[in-house]
Amino acid sequence: MGKAAVIGSGIGGLAAAIQLAAKGYQVVVFEKNSTPGGKIAEIKHKGYRFDTGPSLLTMPELVEELFEVAGYSIDSYFSYKKLDISCKYFFENGNILKAYSDKEKFKKECWEKLGEPPQNIDKHLDKAAEIYDITSPVFIFNSLHKASNYWKPHFLKSMLKIPKLQFYKTMYQQNRKNFQSPELVQLFSRYATYNGSNPYKAPATLDVISHIENNKGVFFPEKGMYSLVDALYNLAVNGGVEFRLNTQVDKINVEGKKATGIKTGGEDLGFDLVVSGADSNYVYENMLPSIHRKTNKKEWSSSALIFYWGVKKEFPQLELHNILFSTDYKAEFEAIFSEKRLSDDLTVYLFISSKMVQGDAPSGAENWYVMVNAPANYGQDWEQITQQARKAIISKINRVLDTHIEEFIEFEKVGFPITIEQETFSKNGALYGHSSNSMFSAFLRHPNFLSKLQDLYFVGGSVHPGGGIPLCLASAKIIDKEIPKAT
Ligand SMILES: Cc1cc2nc3c(=O)[nH]c(=O)nc-3n(C[C@H](O)[C@H](O)[C@H](O)COP(=O)(O)OP(=O)(O)OC[C@H]3O[C@@H](n4cnc5c(N)ncnc54)[C@H](O)[C@@H]3O)c2cc1C
Repeated sequence: MGKAAVIGSGIGGLAAAIQLAAKGYQVVVFEKNSTPGGKIAEIKHKGYRFDTGPSLLTMPELVEELFEVAGYSIDSYFSYKKLDISCKYFFENGNILKAYSDKEKFKKECWEKLGEPPQNIDKHLDKAAEIYDITSPVFIFNSLHKASNYWKPHFLKSMLKIPKLQFYKTMYQQNRKNFQSPELVQLFSRYATYNGSNPYKAPATLDVISHIENNKGVFFPEKGMYSLVDALYNLAVNGGVEFRLNTQVDKINVEGKKATGIKTGGEDLGFDLVVSGADSNYVYENMLPSIHRKTNKKEWSSSALIFYWGVKKEFPQLELHNILFSTDYKAEFEAIFSEKRLSDDLTVYLFISSKMVQGDAPSGAENWYVMVNAPANYGQDWEQITQQARKAIISKINRVLDTHIEEFIEFEKVGFPITIEQETFSKNGALYGHSSNSMFSAFLRHPNFLSKLQDLYFVGGSVHPGGGIPLCLASAKIIDKEIPKAT
Protein backbone atom coordinates (compact mmCIF):
# COMPACT_ATOMS: atom_id res chain seq x y z
CA MET A 1 0.00 0.00 0.00
CA GLY A 2 1.71 3.21 -1.08
CA LYS A 3 0.11 5.12 -3.92
CA ALA A 4 -2.88 7.43 -3.48
CA ALA A 5 -4.87 9.44 -6.03
CA VAL A 6 -6.79 12.52 -4.92
CA ILE A 7 -9.45 13.83 -7.31
CA GLY A 8 -9.85 17.60 -7.05
CA SER A 9 -7.79 20.23 -5.24
CA GLY A 10 -10.60 21.90 -3.32
CA ILE A 11 -9.89 22.46 0.37
CA GLY A 12 -10.97 18.88 1.20
CA GLY A 13 -8.72 17.37 -1.47
CA LEU A 14 -5.76 19.53 -0.43
CA ALA A 15 -6.14 18.54 3.22
CA ALA A 16 -6.45 14.85 2.33
CA ALA A 17 -3.34 15.04 0.11
CA ILE A 18 -1.28 16.63 2.93
CA GLN A 19 -2.43 14.01 5.43
CA LEU A 20 -1.76 11.09 3.06
CA ALA A 21 1.73 12.38 2.24
CA ALA A 22 2.43 12.65 5.99
CA LYS A 23 1.37 8.99 6.31
CA GLY A 24 3.98 8.00 3.76
CA TYR A 25 1.84 7.72 0.63
CA GLN A 26 3.05 8.75 -2.78
CA VAL A 27 0.21 11.17 -3.58
CA VAL A 28 -0.95 12.52 -6.94
CA VAL A 29 -3.68 15.20 -7.03
CA PHE A 30 -5.64 15.42 -10.28
CA GLU A 31 -7.29 18.80 -10.85
CA LYS A 32 -9.21 19.71 -13.98
CA ASN A 33 -8.59 23.44 -13.52
CA SER A 34 -5.33 25.27 -14.19
CA THR A 35 -5.13 26.41 -10.55
CA PRO A 36 -5.78 24.58 -7.27
CA GLY A 37 -8.47 25.55 -4.74
CA GLY A 38 -11.86 24.69 -6.28
CA LYS A 39 -14.43 27.11 -4.87
CA ILE A 40 -11.64 29.05 -3.17
CA ALA A 41 -10.52 30.99 -6.22
CA GLU A 42 -9.53 34.50 -7.21
CA ILE A 43 -9.85 36.98 -10.09
CA LYS A 44 -7.26 39.64 -10.86
CA HIS A 45 -8.06 42.57 -13.13
CA LYS A 46 -6.34 45.94 -13.58
CA GLY A 47 -5.18 46.40 -10.01
CA TYR A 48 -8.18 44.66 -8.43
CA ARG A 49 -8.02 41.23 -6.81
CA PHE A 50 -11.18 39.40 -5.77
CA ASP A 51 -11.60 36.25 -3.74
CA THR A 52 -14.46 34.71 -5.68
CA GLY A 53 -15.80 32.09 -3.23
CA PRO A 54 -15.48 31.87 0.55
CA SER A 55 -14.85 35.12 2.35
CA LEU A 56 -15.05 34.07 5.97
CA LEU A 57 -12.49 31.96 7.79
CA THR A 58 -13.57 30.15 10.93
CA MET A 59 -11.89 27.43 13.01
CA PRO A 60 -8.37 28.18 11.69
CA GLU A 61 -7.07 25.67 14.22
CA LEU A 62 -7.97 23.01 11.63
CA VAL A 63 -5.59 24.69 9.16
CA GLU A 64 -2.90 24.88 11.87
CA GLU A 65 -3.32 21.14 12.46
CA LEU A 66 -2.42 20.37 8.84
CA PHE A 67 0.92 22.11 9.30
CA GLU A 68 1.52 20.15 12.51
CA VAL A 69 0.67 16.88 10.75
CA ALA A 70 3.06 17.71 7.91
CA GLY A 71 5.79 18.78 10.34
CA TYR A 72 6.17 22.37 9.13
CA SER A 73 5.68 25.66 10.96
CA ILE A 74 2.67 27.59 9.69
CA ASP A 75 4.40 30.96 10.16
CA SER A 76 6.35 30.97 6.91
CA TYR A 77 3.29 29.83 4.90
CA PHE A 78 0.15 31.46 6.22
CA SER A 79 -0.90 34.30 8.49
CA TYR A 80 -4.36 35.29 9.59
CA LYS A 81 -5.92 37.43 12.26
CA LYS A 82 -9.06 37.54 14.33
CA LEU A 83 -11.43 40.30 13.26
CA ASP A 84 -12.52 42.95 15.78
CA ILE A 85 -15.81 43.33 13.92
CA SER A 86 -16.99 40.13 12.30
CA CYS A 87 -19.75 41.87 10.34
CA LYS A 88 -21.59 45.18 10.11
CA TYR A 89 -25.35 44.82 9.75
CA PHE A 90 -27.64 47.40 8.14
CA PHE A 91 -31.38 46.96 8.70
CA GLU A 92 -34.12 48.50 6.57
CA ASN A 93 -35.53 50.33 9.61
CA GLY A 94 -32.29 52.33 9.81
CA ASN A 95 -30.69 50.35 12.63
CA ILE A 96 -27.00 49.60 12.19
CA LEU A 97 -25.23 47.02 14.32
CA LYS A 98 -21.59 46.08 14.59
CA ALA A 99 -21.02 42.44 15.51
CA TYR A 100 -17.93 42.79 17.68
CA SER A 101 -15.84 39.70 18.30
CA ASP A 102 -15.48 40.74 21.91
CA LYS A 103 -18.63 39.33 23.49
CA GLU A 104 -18.99 42.07 26.09
CA LYS A 105 -18.74 44.76 23.39
CA PHE A 106 -21.24 42.88 21.21
CA LYS A 107 -23.73 42.60 24.07
CA LYS A 108 -23.32 46.31 24.84
CA GLU A 109 -23.88 47.18 21.17
CA CYS A 110 -27.04 45.00 21.06
CA TRP A 111 -28.35 46.59 24.25
CA GLU A 112 -27.62 50.16 23.14
CA LYS A 113 -28.81 49.80 19.53
CA LEU A 114 -31.63 47.27 19.88
CA GLY A 115 -32.50 47.16 23.58
CA GLU A 116 -31.69 43.44 23.68
CA PRO A 117 -31.00 42.25 27.23
CA PRO A 118 -27.40 40.92 27.39
CA GLN A 119 -28.49 37.75 29.17
CA ASN A 120 -30.46 36.67 26.07
CA ILE A 121 -27.24 36.70 24.06
CA ASP A 122 -25.35 34.83 26.76
CA LYS A 123 -28.07 32.22 26.98
CA HIS A 124 -28.19 31.73 23.21
CA LEU A 125 -24.43 31.46 22.81
CA ASP A 126 -24.08 29.14 25.83
CA LYS A 127 -26.68 26.84 24.26
CA ALA A 128 -24.85 27.00 20.92
CA ALA A 129 -21.62 26.04 22.73
CA GLU A 130 -23.41 23.13 24.38
CA ILE A 131 -24.66 21.89 20.99
CA TYR A 132 -21.09 22.10 19.67
CA ASP A 133 -19.72 20.16 22.65
CA ILE A 134 -22.28 17.40 22.16
CA THR A 135 -22.02 17.17 18.37
CA SER A 136 -18.33 17.75 17.66
CA PRO A 137 -16.88 14.47 18.97
CA VAL A 138 -19.56 12.29 17.40
CA PHE A 139 -20.75 14.17 14.37
CA ILE A 140 -18.35 16.87 13.19
CA PHE A 141 -15.13 14.90 13.60
CA ASN A 142 -16.48 11.37 13.32
CA SER A 143 -18.21 9.18 10.80
CA LEU A 144 -21.90 8.51 11.33
CA HIS A 145 -21.63 5.62 8.90
CA LYS A 146 -19.49 3.25 10.88
CA ALA A 147 -21.42 0.89 13.12
CA SER A 148 -18.54 0.45 15.61
CA ASN A 149 -18.54 4.21 16.34
CA TYR A 150 -22.01 3.91 17.87
CA TRP A 151 -20.69 1.65 20.65
CA LYS A 152 -17.94 3.99 21.78
CA PRO A 153 -18.64 5.42 25.28
CA HIS A 154 -18.41 9.09 24.19
CA PHE A 155 -20.80 8.39 21.32
CA LEU A 156 -23.35 6.75 23.61
CA LYS A 157 -22.96 9.62 26.07
CA SER A 158 -23.69 12.15 23.32
CA MET A 159 -26.63 10.12 22.01
CA LEU A 160 -28.27 10.43 25.43
CA LYS A 161 -28.04 14.19 25.03
CA ILE A 162 -29.78 14.25 21.63
CA PRO A 163 -32.93 15.91 23.04
CA LYS A 164 -30.75 18.92 23.91
CA LEU A 165 -29.89 19.45 20.24
CA GLN A 166 -33.07 21.33 19.36
CA PHE A 167 -33.83 18.98 16.44
CA TYR A 168 -37.54 19.51 16.75
CA LYS A 169 -37.67 23.27 16.25
CA THR A 170 -36.57 25.37 13.35
CA MET A 171 -33.77 27.88 13.77
CA TYR A 172 -36.21 30.73 13.28
CA GLN A 173 -38.64 29.39 15.91
CA GLN A 174 -35.83 29.00 18.43
CA ASN A 175 -34.34 32.42 17.68
CA ARG A 176 -37.72 34.11 17.97
CA LYS A 177 -38.05 32.56 21.40
CA ASN A 178 -34.52 33.56 22.40
CA PHE A 179 -34.47 37.22 21.31
CA GLN A 180 -36.75 40.20 21.80
CA SER A 181 -35.53 42.26 18.87
CA PRO A 182 -36.53 41.19 15.35
CA GLU A 183 -33.08 42.34 14.21
CA LEU A 184 -31.31 39.72 16.31
CA VAL A 185 -33.79 37.02 15.27
CA GLN A 186 -32.85 37.81 11.67
CA LEU A 187 -29.12 38.06 12.41
CA PHE A 188 -28.91 34.71 14.20
CA SER A 189 -31.20 33.01 11.65
CA ARG A 190 -28.81 34.09 8.91
CA TYR A 191 -26.34 31.42 10.01
CA ALA A 192 -28.50 28.80 8.24
CA THR A 193 -27.16 30.22 5.00
CA TYR A 194 -23.63 29.20 6.03
CA ASN A 195 -24.51 25.72 4.83
CA GLY A 196 -27.00 26.77 2.19
CA SER A 197 -30.15 26.11 4.23
CA ASN A 198 -33.40 27.83 5.09
CA PRO A 199 -33.72 29.06 8.71
CA TYR A 200 -37.50 28.62 8.51
CA LYS A 201 -37.03 24.88 7.85
CA ALA A 202 -33.59 23.91 9.15
CA PRO A 203 -33.39 22.49 12.69
CA ALA A 204 -32.26 24.80 15.48
CA THR A 205 -29.29 22.43 15.90
CA LEU A 206 -27.67 24.69 13.31
CA ASP A 207 -27.46 27.36 16.01
CA VAL A 208 -24.13 25.61 16.53
CA ILE A 209 -22.84 27.88 13.74
CA SER A 210 -23.32 30.91 15.98
CA HIS A 211 -20.98 29.24 18.48
CA ILE A 212 -18.33 28.90 15.79
CA GLU A 213 -18.72 32.53 14.71
CA ASN A 214 -19.55 34.34 17.96
CA ASN A 215 -17.74 32.27 20.60
CA LYS A 216 -14.77 30.94 18.65
CA GLY A 217 -14.44 33.97 16.36
CA VAL A 218 -14.15 35.08 12.76
CA PHE A 219 -10.71 35.28 11.17
CA PHE A 220 -9.27 36.55 7.92
CA PRO A 221 -6.04 35.63 6.12
CA GLU A 222 -3.73 38.64 5.98
CA LYS A 223 -3.26 38.18 2.24
CA GLY A 224 -6.86 37.25 1.42
CA MET A 225 -8.72 33.94 1.21
CA TYR A 226 -6.78 32.58 -1.75
CA SER A 227 -3.57 32.72 0.30
CA LEU A 228 -5.01 29.75 2.20
CA VAL A 229 -4.90 27.70 -1.00
CA ASP A 230 -1.41 28.96 -1.85
CA ALA A 231 -0.24 27.93 1.62
CA LEU A 232 -1.78 24.44 1.52
CA TYR A 233 -0.64 23.85 -2.05
CA ASN A 234 2.96 24.76 -1.10
CA LEU A 235 2.75 22.64 2.04
CA ALA A 236 1.55 19.68 -0.04
CA VAL A 237 4.27 20.13 -2.66
CA ASN A 238 6.95 20.39 0.03
CA GLY A 239 5.55 17.19 1.53
CA GLY A 240 6.11 15.42 -1.80
CA VAL A 241 2.60 15.65 -3.31
CA GLU A 242 2.50 15.75 -7.11
CA PHE A 243 -0.16 18.00 -8.69
CA ARG A 244 -1.44 17.31 -12.20
CA LEU A 245 -3.35 20.47 -13.07
CA ASN A 246 -5.51 20.74 -16.21
CA THR A 247 -6.13 17.01 -15.78
CA GLN A 248 -9.69 15.79 -15.53
CA VAL A 249 -10.41 12.36 -14.07
CA ASP A 250 -12.98 10.59 -16.23
CA LYS A 251 -13.59 7.49 -14.17
CA ILE A 252 -12.79 5.78 -10.89
CA ASN A 253 -11.74 2.25 -11.77
CA VAL A 254 -13.32 -0.54 -9.77
CA GLU A 255 -12.55 -4.26 -9.67
CA GLY A 256 -14.94 -6.37 -7.64
CA LYS A 257 -15.42 -4.52 -4.37
CA LYS A 258 -12.30 -2.40 -4.62
CA ALA A 259 -11.28 0.93 -6.19
CA THR A 260 -8.11 0.25 -8.15
CA GLY A 261 -7.25 3.64 -9.64
CA ILE A 262 -8.51 6.26 -12.05
CA LYS A 263 -8.86 6.88 -15.76
CA THR A 264 -7.72 10.17 -17.26
CA GLY A 265 -7.07 11.15 -20.87
CA GLY A 266 -7.84 7.59 -21.98
CA GLU A 267 -5.17 6.13 -19.68
CA ASP A 268 -5.82 3.82 -16.71
CA LEU A 269 -3.60 4.62 -13.74
CA GLY A 270 -3.37 2.18 -10.83
CA PHE A 271 -3.50 3.40 -7.23
CA ASP A 272 -3.82 1.64 -3.89
CA LEU A 273 -6.47 4.08 -2.79
CA VAL A 274 -8.53 6.90 -4.26
CA VAL A 275 -9.84 9.96 -2.43
CA SER A 276 -12.56 11.90 -4.19
CA GLY A 277 -12.67 15.59 -3.35
CA ALA A 278 -15.16 16.19 -6.14
CA ASP A 279 -18.88 16.74 -5.54
CA SER A 280 -20.23 13.26 -4.72
CA ASN A 281 -23.37 13.78 -6.84
CA TYR A 282 -21.18 14.52 -9.86
CA VAL A 283 -19.00 11.49 -9.05
CA TYR A 284 -21.90 9.04 -9.20
CA GLU A 285 -23.23 10.47 -12.42
CA ASN A 286 -19.91 10.65 -14.21
CA MET A 287 -17.13 8.70 -12.61
CA LEU A 288 -18.74 5.70 -10.94
CA PRO A 289 -21.35 4.56 -13.44
CA SER A 290 -21.26 1.00 -12.11
CA ILE A 291 -22.46 2.07 -8.64
CA HIS A 292 -26.10 2.99 -8.50
CA ARG A 293 -27.02 5.74 -6.09
CA LYS A 294 -30.15 7.85 -6.05
CA THR A 295 -29.15 11.48 -5.73
CA ASN A 296 -31.97 13.61 -7.01
CA LYS A 297 -34.69 13.27 -4.38
CA LYS A 298 -33.04 15.43 -1.74
CA GLU A 299 -33.26 19.22 -1.86
CA TRP A 300 -30.21 21.14 -3.10
CA SER A 301 -28.57 23.70 -0.87
CA SER A 302 -28.70 27.29 -2.04
CA SER A 303 -26.28 28.77 -4.51
CA ALA A 304 -25.21 32.38 -4.99
CA LEU A 305 -25.35 35.25 -7.42
CA ILE A 306 -22.22 37.32 -7.03
CA PHE A 307 -21.12 40.57 -8.64
CA TYR A 308 -17.42 41.36 -8.44
CA TRP A 309 -17.19 45.11 -8.77
CA GLY A 310 -14.14 47.31 -9.03
CA VAL A 311 -15.44 50.45 -7.29
CA LYS A 312 -13.46 53.66 -7.79
CA LYS A 313 -14.43 55.18 -4.47
CA GLU A 314 -13.84 54.40 -0.80
CA PHE A 315 -16.71 53.82 1.62
CA PRO A 316 -15.44 54.39 5.16
CA GLN A 317 -18.84 53.44 6.61
CA LEU A 318 -18.32 49.82 5.44
CA GLU A 319 -16.29 47.05 7.08
CA LEU A 320 -14.65 43.94 5.63
CA HIS A 321 -17.97 42.05 5.90
CA ASN A 322 -21.31 43.83 5.66
CA ILE A 323 -24.92 42.71 5.41
CA LEU A 324 -27.76 44.86 4.11
CA PHE A 325 -30.76 42.91 5.36
CA SER A 326 -34.10 42.54 3.57
CA THR A 327 -37.38 43.41 5.30
CA ASP A 328 -39.17 40.14 4.62
CA TYR A 329 -36.60 37.45 5.34
CA LYS A 330 -39.14 34.64 5.15
CA ALA A 331 -40.19 35.64 1.62
CA GLU A 332 -36.56 35.53 0.55
CA PHE A 333 -36.14 31.88 1.58
CA GLU A 334 -39.58 30.94 0.27
CA ALA A 335 -38.51 32.34 -3.11
CA ILE A 336 -35.16 30.49 -3.08
CA PHE A 337 -36.27 27.08 -1.88
CA SER A 338 -39.93 26.78 -2.96
CA GLU A 339 -40.16 28.99 -6.04
CA LYS A 340 -36.51 28.63 -7.23
CA ARG A 341 -36.23 32.34 -7.88
CA LEU A 342 -35.02 35.50 -6.16
CA SER A 343 -37.26 37.61 -3.98
CA ASP A 344 -37.80 41.29 -4.89
CA ASP A 345 -36.29 42.51 -1.62
CA LEU A 346 -32.88 40.90 -1.20
CA THR A 347 -30.40 40.58 1.63
CA VAL A 348 -27.15 41.84 0.15
CA TYR A 349 -23.74 40.75 1.41
CA LEU A 350 -20.80 43.07 0.73
CA PHE A 351 -17.31 41.73 1.26
CA ILE A 352 -14.45 44.14 0.65
CA SER A 353 -11.08 42.45 1.14
CA SER A 354 -9.22 45.69 0.25
CA LYS A 355 -10.34 46.97 3.67
CA MET A 356 -7.70 44.61 5.06
CA VAL A 357 -5.44 43.47 2.26
CA GLN A 358 -3.28 46.23 0.89
CA GLY A 359 -3.02 45.94 -2.87
CA ASP A 360 -6.40 44.24 -3.43
CA ALA A 361 -7.66 47.49 -5.06
CA PRO A 362 -6.01 50.54 -6.63
CA SER A 363 -5.50 53.53 -4.37
CA GLY A 364 -8.81 55.31 -3.60
CA ALA A 365 -10.82 52.29 -4.84
CA GLU A 366 -12.36 49.16 -3.29
CA ASN A 367 -12.98 45.60 -4.51
CA TRP A 368 -16.62 44.78 -3.83
CA TYR A 369 -17.89 41.21 -3.73
CA VAL A 370 -21.65 41.68 -3.76
CA MET A 371 -23.53 38.48 -3.10
CA VAL A 372 -27.15 37.42 -2.72
CA ASN A 373 -28.30 33.91 -1.86
CA ALA A 374 -29.86 32.22 -4.87
CA PRO A 375 -31.48 28.90 -5.73
CA ALA A 376 -29.40 26.15 -7.30
CA ASN A 377 -29.74 25.88 -11.07
CA TYR A 378 -32.99 24.20 -12.10
CA GLY A 379 -32.87 25.64 -15.63
CA GLN A 380 -34.03 29.17 -14.74
CA ASP A 381 -33.34 32.12 -17.05
CA TRP A 382 -30.19 33.34 -15.30
CA GLU A 383 -29.66 36.28 -17.60
CA GLN A 384 -33.01 37.72 -16.66
CA ILE A 385 -32.55 36.86 -12.96
CA THR A 386 -29.14 38.54 -12.97
CA GLN A 387 -30.41 41.73 -14.62
CA GLN A 388 -33.35 42.05 -12.24
CA ALA A 389 -31.23 41.31 -9.18
CA ARG A 390 -28.59 43.83 -10.29
CA LYS A 391 -31.21 46.57 -10.38
CA ALA A 392 -32.64 45.58 -6.99
CA ILE A 393 -29.18 45.36 -5.42
CA ILE A 394 -28.08 48.74 -6.78
CA SER A 395 -31.23 50.44 -5.59
CA LYS A 396 -30.82 48.90 -2.14
CA ILE A 397 -27.16 49.91 -1.86
CA ASN A 398 -28.01 53.45 -2.99
CA ARG A 399 -30.83 53.70 -0.47
CA VAL A 400 -28.98 52.25 2.52
CA LEU A 401 -25.60 53.86 1.87
CA ASP A 402 -26.96 57.07 0.37
CA THR A 403 -24.86 56.82 -2.78
CA HIS A 404 -25.03 56.31 -6.56
CA ILE A 405 -22.97 53.17 -6.75
CA GLU A 406 -23.45 52.59 -10.49
CA GLU A 407 -21.34 55.71 -11.19
CA PHE A 408 -18.33 54.13 -9.49
CA ILE A 409 -18.34 50.60 -10.94
CA GLU A 410 -15.40 50.41 -13.33
CA PHE A 411 -15.10 46.62 -13.53
CA GLU A 412 -17.74 43.92 -13.28
CA LYS A 413 -17.76 40.16 -13.45
CA VAL A 414 -20.67 37.94 -12.44
CA GLY A 415 -20.76 34.48 -10.88
CA PHE A 416 -23.96 32.41 -10.66
CA PRO A 417 -24.96 28.73 -10.31
CA ILE A 418 -24.07 27.78 -13.88
CA THR A 419 -20.57 29.29 -13.69
CA ILE A 420 -20.04 27.72 -10.26
CA GLU A 421 -20.99 24.32 -11.69
CA GLN A 422 -18.74 24.79 -14.73
CA GLU A 423 -15.79 25.85 -12.62
CA THR A 424 -16.03 23.26 -9.84
CA PHE A 425 -18.32 20.48 -11.16
CA SER A 426 -20.66 21.06 -8.22
CA LYS A 427 -24.01 19.67 -9.23
CA ASN A 428 -26.47 22.43 -10.18
CA GLY A 429 -24.11 25.01 -8.71
CA ALA A 430 -25.35 24.20 -5.19
CA LEU A 431 -22.70 25.55 -2.84
CA TYR A 432 -22.96 22.85 -0.18
CA GLY A 433 -24.38 19.75 -1.91
CA HIS A 434 -27.76 18.99 -0.40
CA SER A 435 -29.45 21.37 2.01
CA SER A 436 -29.83 20.77 5.75
CA ASN A 437 -33.48 21.78 5.76
CA SER A 438 -34.69 18.74 7.67
CA MET A 439 -33.93 17.34 11.09
CA PHE A 440 -32.57 14.17 9.47
CA SER A 441 -30.23 15.94 7.03
CA ALA A 442 -27.16 15.31 9.17
CA PHE A 443 -27.75 11.58 8.86
CA LEU A 444 -28.52 11.70 5.14
CA ARG A 445 -25.32 13.21 3.81
CA HIS A 446 -23.09 11.03 1.72
CA PRO A 447 -20.66 9.00 3.89
CA ASN A 448 -16.88 9.45 3.79
CA PHE A 449 -16.40 5.83 2.68
CA LEU A 450 -18.59 2.98 1.44
CA SER A 451 -19.04 -0.46 2.94
CA LYS A 452 -19.54 -1.95 -0.53
CA LEU A 453 -16.41 -0.47 -2.09
CA GLN A 454 -13.00 -0.57 -0.42
CA ASP A 455 -10.17 1.93 -0.87
CA LEU A 456 -12.42 4.77 -2.00
CA TYR A 457 -12.89 7.76 0.31
CA PHE A 458 -14.90 10.98 -0.02
CA VAL A 459 -14.07 14.43 1.32
CA GLY A 460 -15.42 17.96 0.74
CA GLY A 461 -18.57 19.96 1.04
CA SER A 462 -21.04 17.52 -0.50
CA VAL A 463 -20.34 14.70 1.98
CA HIS A 464 -20.39 14.22 5.75
CA PRO A 465 -20.18 16.38 7.86
CA GLY A 466 -21.07 19.19 5.39
CA GLY A 467 -20.01 22.27 3.45
CA GLY A 468 -17.89 25.26 4.38
CA ILE A 469 -14.13 25.26 4.90
CA PRO A 470 -14.10 23.91 8.49
CA LEU A 471 -16.42 21.00 7.72
CA CYS A 472 -14.48 20.11 4.56
CA LEU A 473 -11.34 20.01 6.72
CA ALA A 474 -13.26 17.87 9.22
CA SER A 475 -14.15 15.41 6.43
CA ALA A 476 -10.43 15.01 5.71
CA LYS A 477 -9.78 14.38 9.41
CA ILE A 478 -12.44 11.68 9.42
CA ILE A 479 -10.89 9.72 6.54
CA ASP A 480 -7.44 10.22 8.06
CA LYS A 481 -8.60 8.08 11.00
CA GLU A 482 -9.67 5.30 8.63
CA ILE A 483 -6.66 5.15 6.32
CA PRO A 484 -3.69 3.13 7.59
CA LYS A 485 -0.11 4.35 7.26
CA ALA A 486 1.57 3.50 3.95
CA THR A 487 3.59 0.33 4.08
C1 LIG B 1 -19.66 31.97 -3.45
C2 LIG B 1 -19.27 31.08 -2.32
C3 LIG B 1 -19.15 31.57 -1.03
C4 LIG B 1 -18.77 30.76 0.02
N1 LIG B 1 -18.56 31.30 1.26
C5 LIG B 1 -17.97 30.55 2.23
C6 LIG B 1 -17.44 31.15 3.41
O1 LIG B 1 -17.48 32.37 3.57
N2 LIG B 1 -16.86 30.35 4.34
C7 LIG B 1 -16.74 29.00 4.16
O2 LIG B 1 -16.19 28.32 5.05
N3 LIG B 1 -17.21 28.41 3.05
C8 LIG B 1 -17.79 29.15 2.07
N4 LIG B 1 -18.18 28.58 0.89
C9 LIG B 1 -18.15 27.13 0.78
C10 LIG B 1 -16.74 26.60 0.56
O3 LIG B 1 -16.12 27.34 -0.46
C11 LIG B 1 -16.83 25.16 0.13
O4 LIG B 1 -17.62 24.39 1.05
C12 LIG B 1 -15.47 24.50 0.03
O5 LIG B 1 -14.50 25.37 -0.49
C13 LIG B 1 -15.65 23.29 -0.87
O6 LIG B 1 -14.46 22.55 -0.91
P1 LIG B 1 -14.44 21.09 -1.49
O7 LIG B 1 -13.31 20.38 -0.80
O8 LIG B 1 -15.78 20.48 -1.41
O9 LIG B 1 -14.02 21.23 -3.01
P2 LIG B 1 -14.48 22.22 -4.17
O10 LIG B 1 -14.09 23.59 -3.82
O11 LIG B 1 -15.87 21.95 -4.56
O12 LIG B 1 -13.49 21.76 -5.31
C14 LIG B 1 -13.61 20.54 -5.99
C15 LIG B 1 -12.45 20.50 -6.97
O13 LIG B 1 -12.49 19.27 -7.66
C16 LIG B 1 -12.20 19.50 -9.02
N5 LIG B 1 -12.79 18.41 -9.79
C17 LIG B 1 -14.09 18.03 -9.80
N6 LIG B 1 -14.25 16.97 -10.61
C18 LIG B 1 -13.03 16.69 -11.11
C19 LIG B 1 -12.56 15.70 -12.01
N7 LIG B 1 -13.37 14.80 -12.56
N8 LIG B 1 -11.24 15.68 -12.32
C20 LIG B 1 -10.37 16.59 -11.77
N9 LIG B 1 -10.78 17.56 -10.93
C21 LIG B 1 -12.09 17.59 -10.60
C22 LIG B 1 -12.86 20.84 -9.30
O14 LIG B 1 -12.31 21.47 -10.45
C23 LIG B 1 -12.54 21.60 -8.02
O15 LIG B 1 -11.29 22.24 -8.11
C24 LIG B 1 -18.55 29.38 -0.20
C25 LIG B 1 -18.65 28.86 -1.49
C26 LIG B 1 -18.97 29.71 -2.55
C27 LIG B 1 -19.00 29.14 -3.96
